[in-house]
Amino acid sequence: MSTKQQALFIIFGGTGDLAKRKLYPALFALYQKGIINEHFAVIGTARRPWTDQHFQAVVQESLPDAKAAVAKKFDAHFYYQSHNVNDTEHYVTLKKLAQNLDEKYQIGGNRLFYLAMSPRFFGTIAQHLKSQAIVTADGYNRVIIEKPFGHDYTSAAELNQSISKYFSEDDVFRIDHYLGKEMVQNILAIRFGNNIFNSLWNNRYIDNLQITLSESLGVEERAGYYETAGALRDMVQNHILQIVSLLTMKMPTTYSETDIRREKICALKSLKVYQPQEVATNFVRAQYQAATGLKGYRQEDQIAPDSQTETFVAGKLLVASENFAGVPIYIRTGKRLRQKATRIDVVFKTVPGDIFAKQDLADNILTIEVEPEGKVSLQLNVKKIGQGYQLQEQQLDLSPENRNGEQIPEAYEKLLLDALMGDATNFTHWEEVAYSWKFVDAIRQAWDQSQQPLAEYPCGSMGPKQADELLTKDHRHWIYK
Ligand code: NAP
Repeated sequence: MSTKQQALFIIFGGTGDLAKRKLYPALFALYQKGIINEHFAVIGTARRPWTDQHFQAVVQESLPDAKAAVAKKFDAHFYYQSHNVNDTEHYVTLKKLAQNLDEKYQIGGNRLFYLAMSPRFFGTIAQHLKSQAIVTADGYNRVIIEKPFGHDYTSAAELNQSISKYFSEDDVFRIDHYLGKEMVQNILAIRFGNNIFNSLWNNRYIDNLQITLSESLGVEERAGYYETAGALRDMVQNHILQIVSLLTMKMPTTYSETDIRREKICALKSLKVYQPQEVATNFVRAQYQAATGLKGYRQEDQIAPDSQTETFVAGKLLVASENFAGVPIYIRTGKRLRQKATRIDVVFKTVPGDIFAKQDLADNILTIEVEPEGKVSLQLNVKKIGQGYQLQEQQLDLSPENRNGEQIPEAYEKLLLDALMGDATNFTHWEEVAYSWKFVDAIRQAWDQSQQPLAEYPCGSMGPKQADELLTKDHRHWIYK
């Protein structure tokens, strides 16, 4: 479906964890598929004084499963330049190297600038790319930006301004890697490609939506960042609200970047922003405690012994749109939970009337499991085999095995290809980011002013009891236990 692409990738933060774990393997996957082949080169840049040879060896190490000969041909396209991004001289040498590589590989001026480093550098990089004429006039110039995009609305707006002075919104690709996940991309196919769901996807038929993003790991090496972020900023502002927007947006006129993003922006704008007193009844925050041989959050390295950072958040969201008014959206995410999983449960209302008198019918539930398996299932009521007329629940499953065992590409591979093709459908528009922060800021501010202590949950559980009570007080329960 995609033709060969030609581009020069300039990766700021080329020695970093993200580049090694995600970007180089993703570029290699595109190389193996022939999407990038002859006419591409990669400049990695950071302060460490690496040589091209060392850089190429690092890239090879990031591809443990690659055949050595293929990896070597691929690595030959990689070049390294050591410098500090705050230093204007850096960009003079970078420009020369970029021009040489553009000629050597006949790239035609297409440039992708990947900012895989701390957002505090984004403004200065964007400014220098323009002022030092590293952007070209011949091809495209696109900037790919990693999260976090600010730590609240004000800082995000400042960051956005520092980039938009030099790059138009069309050339800014804000990564939310959940949007590259196959099953997250499937939400629109399921909703709008099937009339059985399209016609039922509203407050007349849906009782509630549930979204769980659970992690089994603790804070690991990210303590410094995590202490200032917490689960609300780290997971809800971006990944969870993106999923909410895909679940609640109206049908776009066409499957296109402009129409889809327009409807997603409307969906996020329709989220009810809570008043401080409403936050206490609609949101729960908690911290993991030592259990099953695992340390509690406050005992982890580099975490303050009296840290107030939440490692878990659960909430009930409401949307003020015609189709979703009155449908609660329950969300939860946390670290050190029982299992790593990303899952959406769409719980439908029960059948009116009482034809099967005195039999408890199970809810119809559409489950989209993003991780670990990537499958869709639908819970139905069917007749029990045999005499009499008893009903029982049964699952209809669409799992990867019965989808011809097709290889699912990694999120970063798909997103890099989208950026190469100039398709920003699966990247977040500034207005999406802005409305998401406005929603999250209201919760954060209420917590900052609150005297209510953090709730607690043991490592390996599914969160604090208060997260269950959020649903039981509405006479509901979490589908994913
Ligand atoms: P990292 O491992 O700390 O890498 C940071 C990079 O920036 C390194 O290459 C570092 O290299 C370079 N650097 C720092 N200061 C510099 C300067 N003044 N001039 C030039 N280069 C400089 O961080 P990371 O985990 O790769 O994350 C990068 C970004 O992606 C962050 O914004 C992070 O939040 C985001 N992100 C990461 C992940 C992940 O899985 N790692 C996931 C989602 C988002 P030198 O020390 O050699 O200069």
